[in-house]
Amino acid sequence: MQRRHFLFQTASLIGLGSLGLKAVAGEKKLGSLQLPPEHWAPHLNEAQFDVLFHEDTERPFSSPLNDEKRVGTFLCAACLNPLFASTTKYDSGTGWPSFYQPISEQALGTKRDFKLILPRTEYHCARCGGHQGHVFEDGPEPTGLRYCNNGLALQFVPEGEALPELRS
Ligand SMILES: [Zn+2]
Repeated sequence: MQRRHFLFQTASLIGLGSLGLKAVAGEKKLGSLQLPPEHWAPHLNEAQFDVLFHEDTERPFSSPLNDEKRVGTFLCAACLNPLFASTTKYDSGTGWPSFYQPISEQALGTKRDFKLILPRTEYHCARCGGHQGHVFEDGPEPTGLRYCNNGLALQFVPEGEALPELRS
């Protein structure tokens, strides 16, 4: 009983049980647009599609967006939904573009991910459902969160350039 309790506590700590993000195991994630992944394929290369719709993970330090330091906005590469502002980007040293906060509370959806046995919190674009990355609780202030994002799943628009229209 004691051991059970301990395991449960450990699992909820590692599983970000205290994040306050809505994380539902096995939740189907088509996003609010309810469109199938194939809908986005014509706009993406194969590597992008694998990350966004097969939850693949790019190699660390492989994305030029990891070193992107200009002011601007990071959009979902599939539906062009704005997901992160450059002001919340920081160098986590992990080799993946990292942010401490999404651009708005509505931008992302989350679900529990048991791929590595220990649960993690996966997050995806709330519009198209495209997988972006995982959120961890070892980020900087003011949120203490680290949104570890695949660069392939993002498109960067520097400040001064108009944001493209959302894709539907
Ligand atoms: Zn999207």
